[in-house]
Amino acid sequence: MEVHAHLLTASKIFCGCATAFGAPPNTHVCEVCLGMPGSLPVLNRKAVEFALKMALATNCRVNPESVFARKNYFYPDLPKGYQISQYEHPLAEHGFLDLKVAGEPRRIGITRIHMEEDAGKLIHSESRPVSFVDFNRTGVPLIEIVSEPDMRAPDEAVEYLKGLRNILLYLEICDGNMEEGSLRCDANISLRPVGQLEFGTRAELKNMNSFRFVKAALEYEIKRQRALLSAGREIVQETRLWDTATNQTVSMRGKEEAHDYRYFPDPDLVPVRVSEEWIESLRKELPELPAARLARFQSQYSLPEYDAEVLTSDKTRADKFEAVVSEVSTQYIRLTGIPSEEAVGKPTIKQVSNWFLDDPTAMSTISSATSGTLLTLVEKGTISRNQAKEVLKEVVATGKDPETIIKEKGLTQISDTGALEAAAQEIINANPKEAADFRGGKTKVMGFFVGQLMKKTKGQANPQLANEIFQRLLK
Ligand SMILES: [Zn+2]
Repeated sequence: MEVHAHLLTASKIFCGCATAFGAPPNTHVCEVCLGMPGSLPVLNRKAVEFALKMALATNCRVNPESVFARKNYFYPDLPKGYQISQYEHPLAEHGFLDLKVAGEPRRIGITRIHMEEDAGKLIHSESRPVSFVDFNRTGVPLIEIVSEPDMRAPDEAVEYLKGLRNILLYLEICDGNMEEGSLRCDANISLRPVGQLEFGTRAELKNMNSFRFVKAALEYEIKRQRALLSAGREIVQETRLWDTATNQTVSMRGKEEAHDYRYFPDPDLVPVRVSEEWIESLRKELPELPAARLARFQSQYSLPEYDAEVLTSDKTRADKFEAVVSEVSTQYIRLTGIPSEEAVGKPTIKQVSNWFLDDPTAMSTISSATSGTLLTLVEKGTISRNQAKEVLKEVVATGKDPETIIKEKGLTQISDTGALEAAAQEIINANPKEAADFRGGKTKVMGFFVGQLMKKTKGQANPQLANEIFQRLLK
């Protein structure tokens, strides 16, 4: 896999133009990124810093010296006639990423991470036989992460891509937006007979920008290559594109070799020297990464591995979860006066996790303060879990706060022992036969009594409390 990630720097890699997505065409351009004669590129230090963070987070060895090279080719979106990239001397090499695929640990080698500039964008008119070019993207900093041929199935490729994306988001160096092209990948795939050591001839699938496309394209390509090989035909080494309209890969061009690009060191740029001190200071700045957070969620919150995995596989979700846990603690103290350490124990945290697992969309839509309120009301016994689910739907739909919705719908759960006891006694008096049955050992009748009480209170009785009261009154 070759994964390209846009770095979230404010300016481009070799000039001061803005990198922001979505500006009017050709407004973020200058002499340097348009390749005007006489202009000179200057490397953006922040871009190197971001690339180095990714190298450290994926266990790569950073090269003390790396060199920018010109990759020469003609295309209308490339004003200089070459792309500045790194070739023989990349920024970092020999890393790895640990994954879990279907519960099994897998280590995928990372060959290299190098820096380069992005090209512009062609926009083909649908109404007229013309194409337009937008150079705003020209010179936006990219890192290319090249993996070893260690993946054996489309699912592994998807997990690898998800893993890389998650790390990029944790590092806050890429927005991971695949639709806008901030993260895209090429996949090389080949088949070989069982037991054969060397790889077969591969096809390269270019520029896929969703997990779904990657999986579908690889699955299609396995079928296509298997059919050819089974018929005794040969695989042509070429570049193919995934056609989302026909769900097929189609040949784009014959595979070019590195020598076709006439790489040579860019004479306008000095080599990049990275000192040990710089690396060490960046290592200290690294945030908690997904693997470490996964382990912490299991130990600190006593969450099952599955919960911790789901929560930490998305940085925003993990952040939200921790914010809600903290909200529940704070609000619980406010509502009950009980210190949070006693009030919000592990079971409550597991409840918060359940909410995220049950309805991740709703939990990501509403604020942590609102989720905190809702969950606290459940923990306190004001409303039941089922009522809370109803309230959550309303919060998402209307934007009102939970307390207002509860009032409007008259959803409060009756947890007042006195009121429930009186009602329970009336039910017992009205049903002497069932009361006698229960006292005679037919404990199943309890369901009947609780049911009657729920009916009488229009479903607002706290079921656990109702149970306790009947147990007591029927002794
Ligand atoms: Zn520029």
